[in-house]
Amino acid sequence: MSLDRTRRLLVSIHDVGPKFGPQVDQLADRLAERLDGLRFAMLVVPNHWGEAPLAGDPAYQAKLRRWSDAGVEMFAHGWYHRDDSCHRGTLARFKARRMTAGEGEFLGLGRNEAVRRMADGRKLIEDITGRPVAGFVAPAWLYGDGARQALVEANFALAEDHMTVWRPATGAVVAKGPVITWASRSGPRIASSLIAARLARVGLQRQRVVRIAVHPGDTRVPRLLDSIDGALASFRNRVVSRYADLLKAPCLPAAKDGGGLVRSTQV
Ligand SMILES: [Zn+2]
Repeated sequence: MSLDRTRRLLVSIHDVGPKFGPQVDQLADRLAERLDGLRFAMLVVPNHWGEAPLAGDPAYQAKLRRWSDAGVEMFAHGWYHRDDSCHRGTLARFKARRMTAGEGEFLGLGRNEAVRRMADGRKLIEDITGRPVAGFVAPAWLYGDGARQALVEANFALAEDHMTVWRPATGAVVAKGPVITWASRSGPRIASSLIAARLARVGLQRQRVVRIAVHPGDTRVPRLLDSIDGALASFRNRVVSRYADLLKAPCLPAAKDGGGLVRSTQV
């Protein structure tokens, strides 16, 4: 298979932290094997569900530092991950409950609280790794108005949601297209995410940048792990890239995007 230098593959592990330590280890080993090294990003949750404070876990901090030293990009990924806001409005309530199983922490936060959690998460991770975070990704990729305003103020280099990666400071979009991800929390969601991933493997071939995101829960379902392997193999002829590479876009010639074929929901 010849390398297509005009197209990129970005891979990330979500929900990294002491809460899902063994599952994250398993995913990191698996990806490293299939990508010929630690060529992926990690999305770090500072205190998942208020149950697993990274600040109080020196052993996990040391592990994060080793991964970072080895080249893994670290994103701040919320603070608690869980949505503990009181949502006003039908659409907001629907999104919060149905799309995320209550994991959209930044959907209902006001600007000030969002700024505070973003800054705290960033400082914690940067103090641990000794280098700047790559950016911020809201839990479940869901941003309320307060979170979007806060992102501009927090001055992260990058942010992403289901459909785009952008520079918060300018709003400039640096990658478009749906992220390929899997849902593990129920049989029907597993089945629909397997179908979505299969469609994406074909439908996103023309996309300039393809993103693949895996979650700790994926490790419980062998069919999901097989599907992840299949997706990685389908896009393995691309340049496996860092998110930061998107900020140097001119090195990749423009290609016609495949468009938004597949969208699935995961946290
Ligand atoms: Zn998450």
